[in-house]
Amino acid sequence: MKTPLCDFDHEKLAELMLSMGEPKYRADQIMRHVVAFDRYDAYTDIPTRLIAALKEKYADVPLTEKTRVEASDGAVRYLFETLGGDLVESVFLPHNYGNSVCVSCQVGCAMGCVFCASGYYGFKRNLSAGEILAQVLYIARDKKSCGGVKKVVMMGSGEPLANYDETVKFIRLVTSPSGINIGMRSVSVSTSGITDKIEKLANDGFCGTLSLSLHAATDEKRKKIMRVAERYSVKETINAMKKFFDKTRRRVVIEYILIGGFNDTPADVIQVKSLLKGLCCHVNLIPLNPTDNCDLKPCSRKHAYEFCKMLNDAGVSATVRRSMGSDVAGACGQLKNRTVLESKTK
Ligand code: SF4
Repeated sequence: MKTPLCDFDHEKLAELMLSMGEPKYRADQIMRHVVAFDRYDAYTDIPTRLIAALKEKYADVPLTEKTRVEASDGAVRYLFETLGGDLVESVFLPHNYGNSVCVSCQVGCAMGCVFCASGYYGFKRNLSAGEILAQVLYIARDKKSCGGVKKVVMMGSGEPLANYDETVKFIRLVTSPSGINIGMRSVSVSTSGITDKIEKLANDGFCGTLSLSLHAATDEKRKKIMRVAERYSVKETINAMKKFFDKTRRRVVIEYILIGGFNDTPADVIQVKSLLKGLCCHVNLIPLNPTDNCDLKPCSRKHAYEFCKMLNDAGVSATVRRSMGSDVAGACGQLKNRTVLESKTK
């Protein structure tokens, strides 16, 4: 398979140009096309002999849009097809303080969280840093007239810390001043809690926002919905988040999906408060988005606000996440799963 040009940073592109006998400034020209998500036919400032040589080994873009669903609030869920035919979802979320894009980092997911549609067909492969970056570049180009993209959230399909090297490379590419140049503080990484990699991420210089998908405050309860809880206890996971804060001084985010009758009672408030004691964090409450293959009960928005008030009264900083794009094929992974299902039944 051809390597996509967006897998290169400026330095590596410059090395490539020199190795091809080209002047170094070609790297600047090509980088501009890469950031603009141009196809080769738009490389009008590049000699045709160089384009022909590049075409032999390198792909201009690593994914194409297969379909999209647009919500009434402006959110758009995109389904992309990679060069190898894999399907990848991304979401554009418009905000008046800066539009964001939620990207996928794997094809499928091995973590098997029961409330999530992304892992329904299991794990297929890691996406390369360039394939993750391409989701941002494509959407930035598509939404240029609406202000482009200012923030990136790694909260789509896949566990970023299970694709650690490509995640770190992606963060470097997306924040590079010679690339699309998103500020590091505008990059969020969401993990189900791969504890040793949380500490490594801080040590490797990430100082954006780290979100932990907690969803239950005891090991017993968490094991019922998240396979990762079999490997790491909630205490060691929260300790890793504390170390991340100590290293970066960045307040962390605790994601908590509210599942009706499972983790939304006054007893859960006490457990959450006790577990998070001493951690500089904000709790993001998300009423469960029902998926096609999951029989967990949703929690009403009204009850979500009641639960939030109980947490606030207990001294825990928490808010209910604004529902955006809930009419763009529901939760992460569902548009892909429905598309796969439709193609099988045709
Ligand atoms: S919630 Fe995240 S880690 Fe869990 S299965 Fe879904 S994509 Fe994977």
